[in-house]
Amino acid sequence: MLEISNLTHTYGSGPGAHHALGGIDLKVAEGELVCIVGPSGCGKSTLLRSIAGLLRPTGGKVVLGGTAVDRTPDDLAVVFQDYSRSLFPWMSVADNVSLPLRRKDMDKKQRRSAAMEALEQVGLEGAAAKYPWQLSGGMQQRVSIARALAYRPSLLLMDEPFGSVDAQTREDLEDLTLRVRSHHNMTILLITHDIDESVYVGDRVVVLSKAPARIVGDLRVDLPAP
Ligand code: ADP
Ligand code: ADP
Repeated sequence: MLEISNLTHTYGSGPGAHHALGGIDLKVAEGELVCIVGPSGCGKSTLLRSIAGLLRPTGGKVVLGGTAVDRTPDDLAVVFQDYSRSLFPWMSVADNVSLPLRRKDMDKKQRRSAAMEALEQVGLEGAAAKYPWQLSGGMQQRVSIARALAYRPSLLLMDEPFGSVDAQTREDLEDLTLRVRSHHNMTILLITHDIDESVYVGDRVVVLSKAPARIVGDLRVDLPAP
């Protein structure tokens, strides 16, 4: 499904250069949920942006479904850590969630009902007609998650997706993510700094070293899905 070989990334050049990725090799099978953990600033987001085709790596290769990634693939969705910049402020919550579905073979009615279903799953059906700026940070984050889940990508990349919600909501969103991925056979890469979370939601936990990030651990945890 996903094959990363000898991926490196360096920001800048000369004496101020920062080596973020120091040669990452990773294979992810279809349907796997892989959590990526590592110290703050080690290069986790850099890795995710390289996989998403949002950042051109300095070296190495990302192959997704047999094709080298050189732009953002259609069959991919990303939940960014900075949810506050990921929703369009001039569009309602429902329109934000249904927008990416235009890339699919769905009419307006189908897009609307898929968006409403996803909003219901994150407990925000009542906020469909609101605008992102009318919602709390945690609610905006849930809208971003709803948008990604509604899209049903074959690969979902999540960067600290549950960071600014309360503990109960976090557990609900973790369980929701597990249910949706089993039901639609999604492959998920999830970045977290929470080891408990990684062991709970992941089939596998990949541990990165300090920058330049290298894989220093790759553990199967394989808890049964709830
Ligand atoms: P993590 O997600 O693990 O916290 P990042 O991938 O965001 O780490 O960043 C890795 C390192 O690269 C950090 O030290 C960060 O300061 C640096 N970095 C990230 N983006 C840039 C950039 N655009 N230019 C220069 N340095 C960057
Ligand atoms: P969460 O982060 O889980 O969304 P918050 O503690 O931020 O929870 O908000 C709790 C509740 O307060 C929300 O479910 C919502 O009903 C309401 N709320 C918070 N901020 C706003 C806001 N800016 N506009 C409207 N309702 C809000």
